[in-house]
This record gives sequence, C-alpha cells and structure tokens, in this order.
Amino acid sequence: MIIKYEDIKSLTEDELKWWLREIGEKPFRADQIRNRLFCGQVASFDEMEQLKPALREKLKESFRITSLTEVHRLESVDGTVKWLYETADGNHIETVLIPANGRYSVCVSTQVGCAQNCAFCRTAKMGFIRNLEAGEILEEIIRVNWYLKSINALSRDNKQATVTNIIFMGMGEPLNNLENVHRVCCTLHNQKLFNLGKDRMTVSTSGVVPKIKELVDRNTPCCLAVSLNSTNNEYRSSVMPVNKVWPIEKLLEAIDEYIRRTDKHVTFEFVLIQNITCTPQAAKELIRICAPRRVKVNAIVLNDGDDPTLHAPTPDEVERFLETVRAAEVQITIRNPRGRDILAACGQLAYKNKQGKTDANTESA
Ligand code: SF4
Repeated sequence: MIIKYEDIKSLTEDELKWWLREIGEKPFRADQIRNRLFCGQVASFDEMEQLKPALREKLKESFRITSLTEVHRLESVDGTVKWLYETADGNHIETVLIPANGRYSVCVSTQVGCAQNCAFCRTAKMGFIRNLEAGEILEEIIRVNWYLKSINALSRDNKQATVTNIIFMGMGEPLNNLENVHRVCCTLHNQKLFNLGKDRMTVSTSGVVPKIKELVDRNTPCCLAVSLNSTNNEYRSSVMPVNKVWPIEKLLEAIDEYIRRTDKHVTFEFVLIQNITCTPQAAKELIRICAPRRVKVNAIVLNDGDDPTLHAPTPDEVERFLETVRAAEVQITIRNPRGRDILAACGQLAYKNKQGKTDANTESA
C-alpha cells in the first residue's frame, strides 16, 4: 500500500491502520487518532495525550493536520449561517449551514473555484484554482459541528443539535474531485465517527457523465443530484458548457444506469427563470423526461443576480408550473432560497472577497 496523503484527515481507516502496522504499532490506535481528529478539537498531535510520545513524534514526522481559518461568519435572519474560510495556502472557500425542520444540513465546497463555467454562478467567475483535500472538506463539517456545540451550550431546552445532512453543492464540481469526495463520504458514513447514512449525503453534479458511472463503480455512500436546469440542449449548452460535451441524452443514459444499478432515485435541480425554464412548454418537456424515471425535481426560483436579462418568475407563474408538473404525477418541490441577506448562494461571498482583494490590489498598483 502507498500512502499518498500528508494530510492525516484524508486517510481512510484502512490506510491509517496499515501505516500503524508498518511502524510496529497496534492498529486499534487508528480509532483513537481518528476519534480525536474528527470528534475532538485537536489542532496538533501533541494534544493527543492518550498516545505515547514516541507515536506522537512519528505522526508528526509523517503527517500534518489540515485546518481552516474562519475569515467571516454571517448569520441570516432565517437561521442560515455562512462561513468564509481561508485554507493553509491562502485560498477562500465557503460553507453553509441550513437548519430546517429539525435537520442541520451543511452545504460544503469541494474545490477552490470551479472549471465548469456555468453562466449563472459566481464561483465560475473565480476560475478553477485547485481541488480541496478530503481533510479540508471534512474540516468544513467538523467546524459546523463545533459551532452547533457552542449553540447547544447556550440552549436551555437540552437540544443537542449536530450536523444531520451533507450536500456537496458548494463551490466546485464534486465529481471533478471524486477521489476526495469518496473519501469524505466514507468517513462520514463510518459508524464510529459521524455515522451519517447514505441517504443523508447528496453529491450534486452539473452533469459529468463518466464520473456518474465511476460513482456507482466505487459504491460511494451517497445520493445523487443533477443540476438539470433546462430540458433543451441549446439553452442548457448556453448556460452550462458541460452540456456541449455530454448533452441531455448522454446525461439521461448515465442517470438511467445509476438508477438501475443503485436502486435509488435521482434528484434534478431545476432553476425557474421567467419566460425560459418556467413556461408551459418547459413544464411539458420536464414531464417528458421525468415521468418515466425514478426522479424527484427540486425547483429553485432564480436568485436575481448580475444578469439583467434573467428574471425570477412571478409567484403565479411558479404555481402554474408546479401544478402542471404535479398533475403528471412527477414529484416536484419548491426550494425557497435561504440566507438571501447573507449572500448564501454558491460562491457569492468568496467571489465578493476576491473582488475586494482585486480592487484593493488595483488601487495600490
Ligand atoms: S454551478 Fe457548480 S458546477 Fe457550475 S460553475 Fe458553479 S460551482 Fe461549478
């Protein structure tokens, strides 16, 4: 076995056990180390007092502990919390906590920036910088748990809030960082650590077809969501360049294979845009695609943003769209945008921060 990672949180349980055996230690130490890393608040190996000093030294020689630095934390009136974190190499990523109906969902970033270049996305404007390590993605979740713990300490009703759901839908295309996303899902699924069920982790893709197949081959413990956004190849290609490589027909083939092999449904994310994707014709096309498949549709009303040519539909238009789709017995729910007052959409805060720095650099140049 070759250990490719210096970041100890990125290692699987088996890799850490293998390394411990190689240095003549008992493999059960892996549980102690991982418990401290994921459930404690340790920032260094020296804080792992239950380990012998010699083992702590060997850990220090071979690995590092990934950390993130909180740059901003914004709390919305609707309970949504958004963090801007700085990585050790000075990049910025976002994490969002969405509390709703007793669930604490965390939307995590998987890359710094993104190469997919979707027209409506702020992260796309940053370009692609690098993949996040598995340990960095896990650190996003660990830090939300710390935050919830601090809230629990203030709570009078003895409620012990903890992260219940993970959505890989923050900055980046998760399937372009599949090796690390797979490692994260396995660690989150581990009963001795986070113990999150497969149905509580959702990987969302813009439609990277070969990686959907790889996700099934790897048996990654997660559900799949696809940002469909349009049923029309011409329009989808104009806003999501991934569609030029893998058009809707190819995407549907991969989805059908995913459903057949995993026996799970797939969620389609669908942004409702006035006169474009929220029309009677678009509803009919959505029904044509969804009715024969085990899929659910998560409709999201456009967050009015930078593009003055795109508008959110009126509430009546949204209602008519939903009624048409539901009448065909296609399962569709409307997701209300959360945290509008704190720029909670993907990449908005990191992009704003980057712009701020660029503006400052321009001024000083
Ligand atoms: S929407 Fe997602 S996949 Fe598309 S550019 Fe933004 S982060 Fe990347």
